[in-house]
Amino acid sequence: MREARAGSVATPHAERQAIATLHGVGPALAEKLGKLGIERVQDLLFLLPARYEDRTHVEPIGALVPGRRAVVEGEIQLTEVTYRRRRQLLCKIADGSGFLTLRFFYFSTAQQNNLARGVRLRCFGEVRRGPMGLEIVHPEYRRVAAEPEALEEALTPIYPTTEGIPQGRLRALIMQALRELDRDGVRDWLPSELLATENAADGEALPDLRTALEILHRPPKDISLTALTSGRHPAQQRLAFEELLAHQLALRLLRQTSRSEHAWSLRDGEQRTQQFVASLPFQLTGAQRRALTEVARDLDAERPMARLVQGDVGCGKTVIAAAAAARAVGCGLQAALMAPTELLAEQHARNFDGWFRPLGLPVALLTGSQPARTRRSALEAIASGEIKLIVGTHTLFQQGVAFQSLALTIVDEQHRFGVQQRLQLNEKGVRDGRVPHQLIMTATPIPRTLAMTAYADLDVSVIDELPPGRTPVKTVVVQDTRRDQVVMRINEQVRQGRQCYWVCPLIEESEELHYQAAEETARQLTEALPEVRVALVHGRMPARAKERAMQEFKAGKIQLLVATTVIEVGVDVPNATLMVIENAERMGLSQLHQLRGRVGRGSLDSSCVLLYRAPLSQIARERLAAIRESNDGFEIAQRDLELRGPGELLGTRQTGLAEMRVADLVRDALLLPAVQAAAETMLSKYPERIAPLIARWIGGAERYGSVG
Ligand code: ADP
Ligand code: MG
Repeated sequence: MREARAGSVATPHAERQAIATLHGVGPALAEKLGKLGIERVQDLLFLLPARYEDRTHVEPIGALVPGRRAVVEGEIQLTEVTYRRRRQLLCKIADGSGFLTLRFFYFSTAQQNNLARGVRLRCFGEVRRGPMGLEIVHPEYRRVAAEPEALEEALTPIYPTTEGIPQGRLRALIMQALRELDRDGVRDWLPSELLATENAADGEALPDLRTALEILHRPPKDISLTALTSGRHPAQQRLAFEELLAHQLALRLLRQTSRSEHAWSLRDGEQRTQQFVASLPFQLTGAQRRALTEVARDLDAERPMARLVQGDVGCGKTVIAAAAAARAVGCGLQAALMAPTELLAEQHARNFDGWFRPLGLPVALLTGSQPARTRRSALEAIASGEIKLIVGTHTLFQQGVAFQSLALTIVDEQHRFGVQQRLQLNEKGVRDGRVPHQLIMTATPIPRTLAMTAYADLDVSVIDELPPGRTPVKTVVVQDTRRDQVVMRINEQVRQGRQCYWVCPLIEESEELHYQAAEETARQLTEALPEVRVALVHGRMPARAKERAMQEFKAGKIQLLVATTVIEVGVDVPNATLMVIENAERMGLSQLHQLRGRVGRGSLDSSCVLLYRAPLSQIARERLAAIRESNDGFEIAQRDLELRGPGELLGTRQTGLAEMRVADLVRDALLLPAVQAAAETMLSKYPERIAPLIARWIGGAERYGSVG
């Protein structure tokens, strides 16, 4: 790849020009703008309107429609202060087609005096039905002459909330900045070849930057307001494209930087990996074998691996993680697996112990709540290298944890962690100029194009096959008035030797209430089901009690596990066949899918009951229908994406893909393939444009490593 040098191209004036250089921007205003992240003239130009208003023509009063915003002109008939409930100023205007009341709750005497009978006003605001016919509360207004006065030439942009900077002031500043643009320019970093029609979602070539900015800040009055409002106008698409490209490039740089580092080759661990796989009581699925081959190939290189293994719940990702860990251990080096909850860390530790102890390899568990003595001895064994396999929660990368030779870090359920945490864990392992390999696992399948965008810094392996013999979980949606019948189903399952989960509703208002509710539910179910052995697990319980309950559930001594959503990730008990989820209407689709994934893990017929409380909102209804109709994580993720946007799906990602300024990953999904290709073009042909592009959209380009 060609060397890229940041800053080898002169950055145009406006891109560096401080906001304070604009006319009328004093320290106070500059500070307010600073709070909005606006420091340079360029930032101001990229503060885009949240919506637009059409003030380009006057509506006859007689044609006004309640609920719409409009410009009207009329002559004042009467102005009076009334005291109906509270003091207010009413001003009645007429234009020959009808009457309209202007209502003010806050007004000055001067204002009152200016609104004299016979004065002509032009007003703007939202029309609504009032006690005396149509009215506008607190309209924007000004006096106009009897002769028709010029109206707005362009649609009026309304900017997002702006920390006490009046819209008019902001508009004037942006107009000034646009004039600066005429003089000096904000550089269009996109080469024209990228603006060609094939890159636009709707086949219309993307406009150049200056045209796009002018259209968006000053839309001509004949523009399609529908296109603008939906964000699909080519001017918006152009900026969305550029923003997506900036994010894509930032992630690519992150990846290049990590690729340039050194890591241990784990080739000598091949035998251990094979030994481990051979010791499993089952054959790997084809998809697992493929993923493992990809992982092994990465691990054998002297460059650090950064690979995401993606696959639906129950597809068997843990085994792949263990096989990778075996490779590190086979080289006499350490591997650490990080899980988002203690429950899951404990389960992984148990599984690893079951697999590796027979091979003579002990496993250490590290969690936040374990007794000091246990923790101390684990820490010692980890630091001395006596133990090579380490499983834990985020405590793994905290102070006081020292590894002897960490060659591989594995992050399970990565969507629960931030990229920061992942990198912190990796930093623990940096030694002698080498960084650990990273394996990242997620059961939140996301659509392919989105994955390529969100995880552009990672290589991706997909496990798209479930182990043989699984029967799909049958899902039913039941109103909570039929709770008793559901409770009886537990009895039936238990009589057949099966086990059940009952997931308690999330009470967001208070953590305390949340645990109390879980305890109360457990108590009620124990009472209602005298023949069933019930246990409770929730996040606040002492680790020991939680572990005991889980172990007893796994061993079949407990038949009904009442739990909070802590069991959402990873818990694996193949004999469990019934999952009841209370208040399912409050949960997100991916979360429901994860919870449901706790059953149907063996060959037994399993079912999932989604209890809801009426009335259901439209979105809740759609969510429940989607989860009932599909067992396919990818399909559900796509629906989740449509219903809730990418934030929930991707979790916390440092590059803020979920909070982009113009682009919207759902709406603009069609642009993504072109964005991928454009990133290639930029990297190979225009490397010098990358840094300013990232600086424009994301800022702090240094974070992504040097270009090249
Ligand atoms: P997930 O991908 O959701 O993390 P797990 O790794 O927990 O899934 O695996 C789910 C269950 O499937 C576990 O009980 C595991 O032992 C089992 N399993 C994994 N791979 C296979 C396979 N190839 N054949 C049969 N069972 C498997
Ligand atoms: Mg898992």
